[in-house]
Order: sequence, then structure tokens, then C-alpha cells
Amino acid sequence: MKELIASQREYFLAGHTRSIPQRKKNLRKLHDLLLENEAVLTEAIYKDFKKQEMVTVENELSIPYGEINVAIRQLKRWSRSRWRLTNLSNFPARTRTIAVPYGVTLVIGPWNYPFMLSLVPMISALAAGNTVILKPSELTKHASAAMAAIFNTNFSKQLIHVVEGGVEETTELLKQKFDKIFFTGSTEVGRIVMRAAAEQLTPVTLELGGKNPVIVMPDCKLKRTAQRIAWGKLHNNGQACVSPDHIYVHESIKEQLIQEIGKQINRICGSNPKESPMLPRMVNERNFDRVAGLIDPDKVVLGGEMDRSDCYIEPTIMDGVTPEDRIMQEEVFGPLLPVLTYTNLDELLETLKLQPAPLVLYIFTRKLRLARRIMKEIASGGGMINEVVMHFINMNAPFGGVGASGMGSYHGRAGFNDFSHQKTIMQKPMWFELFLKYPPQFRIYLRIYRSVIGRSFRNFWH
Ligand code: NAD
Repeated sequence: MKELIASQREYFLAGHTRSIPQRKKNLRKLHDLLLENEAVLTEAIYKDFKKQEMVTVENELSIPYGEINVAIRQLKRWSRSRWRLTNLSNFPARTRTIAVPYGVTLVIGPWNYPFMLSLVPMISALAAGNTVILKPSELTKHASAAMAAIFNTNFSKQLIHVVEGGVEETTELLKQKFDKIFFTGSTEVGRIVMRAAAEQLTPVTLELGGKNPVIVMPDCKLKRTAQRIAWGKLHNNGQACVSPDHIYVHESIKEQLIQEIGKQINRICGSNPKESPMLPRMVNERNFDRVAGLIDPDKVVLGGEMDRSDCYIEPTIMDGVTPEDRIMQEEVFGPLLPVLTYTNLDELLETLKLQPAPLVLYIFTRKLRLARRIMKEIASGGGMINEVVMHFINMNAPFGGVGASGMGSYHGRAGFNDFSHQKTIMQKPMWFELFLKYPPQFRIYLRIYRSVIGRSFRNFWH
């Protein structure tokens, strides 16, 4: 690992990743490789957790394709230096900022979207002019092997290299000196990554998880609300960081909402969800056991079927859930939908304010002004009003968490910025010198600065 990192650093310091045409060439090559190897990639994901080919293309590859295209189109604009105003005490001078790449970067991916969540940060890293060491999740071993086989044979290892492995290999990687670490995964492992990065003073971006609440108000458009929540929950069978985790519905419409969500699940998955192409499996038996353990059979009002040998759990709604229930103690990350009720919105908001910030807050209501106010008041990485999940695919806006759900953001330009250092450069001419800087005139400067004239002058001066 030391050798690999040293050789990437050498390549970076030699300037091979800096030119914009070269970065575009790397991105184009990545695009073409993905396209050529779509069959291999989709098959790998099927072997990992039975995700169907079309679903894989839609939610694992289409976003990276889009990210590459946007980066290629916008790269020149993103990397342009920007002029900044210069304050009076620095006059005459010119100030600008330039985006410079960090250098050797480490991208650690999770298993739930093994390609998309490894590729999108990698694309931002390359666009910004860095080299990349990618460590995909060991839980989706076929996807990890496919990326290693494709990238390690087609790219110079000085630019991109996939290191396969689990905790042991990641721990070893984290002992090395990187110039930037981008981690996607659980909050618990996020802490480990950040601790290791602190040893080397390496900047980190953490894209973590959390419990995303959905507030359903009594004035919402009920059928559409149910349809969107059901679709969002079934996306990747609930194994998405932006998945609606649990619902707070107004007591008066609870029964109707549960019935409608049930109907919508049926519409999406058919009468035999196990055969539905929409539902990939739990990634392994350990995760199956974890999710299955969250089900309280007394509270199940829909679903509840399981088959451990196939890692299958049916989409399941649980009613009458309370904050004390086990399912409310951790991120669900599976096809279970716990339903809680509220009667007083202010009380609910006070409770939410005290909980760890989720990655997303969802609100369904027609009172848009109220929804926007709640979005301002409750901490969360992002938010959606009257929809779920879809904000993730808007590349024109930053995506990221806050507090327990992470730090830093990416996608499109935000990703480019995340992998760049904004360097301020001030340039001064030699023909003018501010004599007040030096002693003994410095005393005069201080006297003016502290005087009444000075006080009113300070706003212009700084
Ligand atoms: P995870 O934290 O278990 O694993 C993520 C990565 O960390 C893997 O590559 C794994 O090999 C490595 N890892 C695991 N244990 C480690 C350790 N002790 N030391 C060093 N490295 C270790 O996460 P996961 O199960 O792959 O993914 C699910 C979690 O990720 C969920 O919490 C989900 O919400 C979150 N997630 C967040 C986002 C986001 O964009 N914010 C996206 C997807 C998933």
C-alpha cells in the first residue's frame, strides 16, 4: 500500500493529472469502460443481491454517466480562477482563488449501491485532478471484483487503483497518508475513518446514514403521498441512505394512509413480491438477521414474510410503533416501514429537534410555507417537500449530511469543490509600500485606527 500511494503521489507531483484536457480524457475513458462492460457489471450485481439488469442500469450506472457528462461539459468553468475584491488595507493588489487538486485521494464505498457510490466520488476526484485509490465494500464481492478487474487493467495504477478487501485492508489503508478521504457508509465506521484521518490531518468527507423521518400532515394529497412513499421505500428494497425510514402521520389519516401504501406496494411488486424484479435481496444473512430482528410480529399490519435461505424479506408495514421500540433505535435499511402517529405538530417538531440529524427530512403537505419553515428549523442533511429520494439525482445541487449523517457534500460542481482546495492568491505590485506597516510609523497607524475617524473608517479598511 505504501508503494502504491508513493507511486500515485509521484505521478500527481509530476503534474500528470493537472491539465484539463487530460482530466477530460480520463473521464471519457471511464465512461467508455463502463459502457463496454455494462453486461459484466450488471451480472456482478445480480450475483451479489439479485438486482435485475434494468434496475442496475437505472440506479447504479445512469447517475455516473450523467456525472461524467456534466463534469466534461463544465470542467473548464469549474476550474476557472475567480477574482475576489481586495480590501483597502491591501490596496493596490489583485486577489483571486484557484481550485487546486488535493493529490492522492482515498474513496471508500458501501455495499448498497456498490458502483454508483464508488464511481460518483471517484468521478469528482478525477475531475478535480486527483489520483484515486478506491476501496469498495467487501460485502458486494462480485461488484468489487468487477471494478478491480476493469479499472486495474485499463488504467495506470498511478491514476486509479482498486484495492479490494474488508476491515483489515481498510484499516491498513487508513494508516497511510492520503491528501483527502471520501467515505460513504455507516455513522459508526465514519467515526473510525475520521479518527484515523485526524492522525494524518487529512481532510475527510463523510456520507453517512441515519433515520430519515417522513412527516405526513392531514391536508396532504393522500394517494400521491402513499404512492411516493411506497416507491421510495421499495427502491433497492429499503437499502438506500435516502430511504424513508419511518413515518409520523397525523392520527386522523393513519388508517387511510396505511391502506393506500399497502395498495401501492401491491401495485409496484404484484401479488407475489418475492418474484418481483423490483426487489433485490438483503445483501447477506447477517443483514437479513438484523432487519428481521427489527420486526415486532404483533405490530405487523402488512407483509412480514421472510426466507432466510434467499435473504428475502417482504415489504412490511408496522403500525402502533412507539419511539421505544427496537425498530426506532437504529437505521432500518431494509423493507420495513414503521408508522408512528402525532396529533400536535409542534410537539412532534420539538421531539425531532432533539434527535440526531438525519440525512433527509421528508414532509407531505399542501401548506408549503409551513413545510419550508419546518425545513429551516429541523436539522437534516437535505429535505424534500411532497416527494422522497429523488433529490439525490439532481446534480446541480450539493448532496450531503450534517451532524450524525455526515459532513461535506458532493454531486456535480459540489463534488468538484469537495475534491479541490480553494487557494487564495494575492498579487501586489512593488511600486507602492504602506509605510504605516513598519515601526515607528506603526504607532501613528494605531492611533488613527483607534480614533473616532478610524472607527468609521474601519469598514472600508478591512
Ligand atoms: P459500513 O460502514 O459497514 O461500510 C462502509 C465501508 O467501510 C466498506 O467499504 C467497509 O469495508 C468499510 N468498513 C467497515 N467496517 C470498517 C472498519 N471497522 N474499519 C474500517 N473500514 C471499515 O457501511 P455499509 O453497511 O456498507 O453501508 C450502509 C450504511 O451506509 C448505511 O448506514 C447507509 O445509510 C450509509 N450510506 C450513506 C450514504 C450517503 O450518501 N450518505 C449512501 C449509502 C449508504
